[in-house]
Amino acid sequence: IKRIGVLTSGGDAPGMNAALRAVVLAAEHYGIETIAFRHGYQGLLDNDAVPMQAKDVLHILQYSGTIIKSARCRRFKEVEAAQLAAKNLDSLNIDALIVIGGDGSFRGADHLANHWQGQIIGVPGTIDNDVYGTDQTIGYATAVAIAMDALDKIRDTADAMDRVFIVEVMGRDAGFIGLCSAMSSGAERMILPELQKEKALTISALVKHIKRVQEIRGEGSYVMVLSEHQWPGGAVALSEQLEAEYHLPCRPCLLGHIQRGGPPAPADRILASELGVHAVELILAGAHRVMAAKSQNACVAVPLRETWEKKHPLDENLLRIQHEIFNPVKKKQQR
Ligand code: ADP
Repeated sequence: IKRIGVLTSGGDAPGMNAALRAVVLAAEHYGIETIAFRHGYQGLLDNDAVPMQAKDVLHILQYSGTIIKSARCRRFKEVEAAQLAAKNLDSLNIDALIVIGGDGSFRGADHLANHWQGQIIGVPGTIDNDVYGTDQTIGYATAVAIAMDALDKIRDTADAMDRVFIVEVMGRDAGFIGLCSAMSSGAERMILPELQKEKALTISALVKHIKRVQEIRGEGSYVMVLSEHQWPGGAVALSEQLEAEYHLPCRPCLLGHIQRGGPPAPADRILASELGVHAVELILAGAHRVMAAKSQNACVAVPLRETWEKKHPLDENLLRIQHEIFNPVKKKQQR
């Protein structure tokens, strides 16, 4: 192995820079050159390639975003695109490619592997944590910390005014950010994709819960965490509905892309550093079509296909605690 390529793809995640730095430093440590492709797969197609050395990744691990840019590239799904990428990689004499991104990016990596001979390794970078085979993805810890911080702030004002708040968080089709931000901030309720799939919450059941909590406590706030895409019209529509139809003073708060910025949490910087190095070492060990991951405290290699074919489940125990132990309304009273 003389030269490797690296790119960041899909939704950016805090810690992507730390992962890039780790890849470059590890490669240099083992006497390998690194070429970065800018703007994800688009850069592979455009041959937007820049050599990267240790000096190019100085002091970037404390910043979110990605200095080599990320992008979505629809065209990459086509066979011709993968063939063109393979041709460009070969013309630069690249032996292996590291893709830092989420499950969509891994599908892209697998697609490329059908048309290119080099080794391909994925590194899980997404705030959603919706990748099978790794305990956590890079960026997830930061997103939860940001959501928790926002929920704490909302609580201050909600409590002062005895108000209901609906805070909408990211997560794509997974409730990791929702569950863990709700638990870490003591939210009264959460609407998560996994729960909605099991049994969708009705507005009347929600109103009943809110009123019961207010009755039990006499006064105070009710903060609900809503995962994106889990209510038609989101937090804004739901709070309007609660005010208009049930006369419950309610305010929405959309966290949006704030969840992806600012200084990456220590856990993300460390995970990104470890997995970036792991990815390079996997290449040296001859691995191909796997994700460099951390599972049960060990660095592992997970077949790329498994990362999206299998589902990363929510922690059942956290769900139970949040629903039963921390629910102000006990089951018997709810009936
Ligand atoms: P993430 O990696 O964050 O899940 P996306 O789902 O947006 O992000 O995927 C990122 C990119 O990966 C897409 O824009 C596309 O270029 C590529 N990609 C996703 N799915 C496929 C696929 N089935 N085949 C080829 N490329 C894909």
